[in-house]
Amino acid sequence: MRASKYQVVLIATNAACLCALLLAGTCLDASLDLDHLVIDKVRIVTSEGITQSANAIQRVNRLVVDQPLLPGLPRGLLATRTITISLIRERLDGIDARAFPSDLVIAIPATAVESWTDSKLRRVLRHELMHLALGAALGYAHVPAWFSEGFAEWGSESLSCEAEARLRLDAVIYGGQSPNIPQLSVKIRNHIDRLGYDYLQTFFEFLDGRPGHLVSSGRMVESVREHGVVAGLEKAFRANLRSLEGEWHGYLRRRFGSFPSGFTCPPSVID
Ligand SMILES: [Zn+2]
Repeated sequence: MRASKYQVVLIATNAACLCALLLAGTCLDASLDLDHLVIDKVRIVTSEGITQSANAIQRVNRLVVDQPLLPGLPRGLLATRTITISLIRERLDGIDARAFPSDLVIAIPATAVESWTDSKLRRVLRHELMHLALGAALGYAHVPAWFSEGFAEWGSESLSCEAEARLRLDAVIYGGQSPNIPQLSVKIRNHIDRLGYDYLQTFFEFLDGRPGHLVSSGRMVESVREHGVVAGLEKAFRANLRSLEGEWHGYLRRRFGSFPSGFTCPPSVID
């Protein structure tokens, strides 16, 4: 998509943080908010013909720059980069938004910005930011969709009550037969439903629950950067992918294998 088709609506600079990063030595730690994601600039652009209120633009900007630190990744990955949020006219078939990691672009339908709640927009932006940061962490090496989607979903929020309900229901309907990673890859590729993302999120929760918390500590991504996804997981977890999947299925049965009577989600979490 050519830049001329877009108008730049706002450039927000996290200048204080950038300055802090450019300073050498010990003042760096003192100047940075270590619990907060640091991005140099957020540029919000709209497709030609789209008008967004200043409030809507400010809201998107706020929901990007107010993000807490992204877990499982080196700090400061986005601290010297400009991220572009592109508000587009068209709908994205079956998905909420799309990230283009090597271009540092996140595309979101403009209509979504108007209609989504803050919590949904924050979560979607965070998922896409995870893609951008993972791309930067891995030097933009290709990784399978199940890995990047599961990791992005894991880092965007803890498993929602709504997702838990879907997983419990699926376990009851299919008698505890959980899908394997190749089956989930097909679901993800074809944007079949949310359930594929839910399952993949639980895979990373399961991995992080193993000794050493290798996902949240960043050691899993480090190993994947060095060895690729399959060999990287094997080296980090000292088990091959097939045996990790087997353990994960047991974890799923234990955690979601029933649908207790009276299980409900508060209405406020469903958006
Ligand atoms: Zn994604």
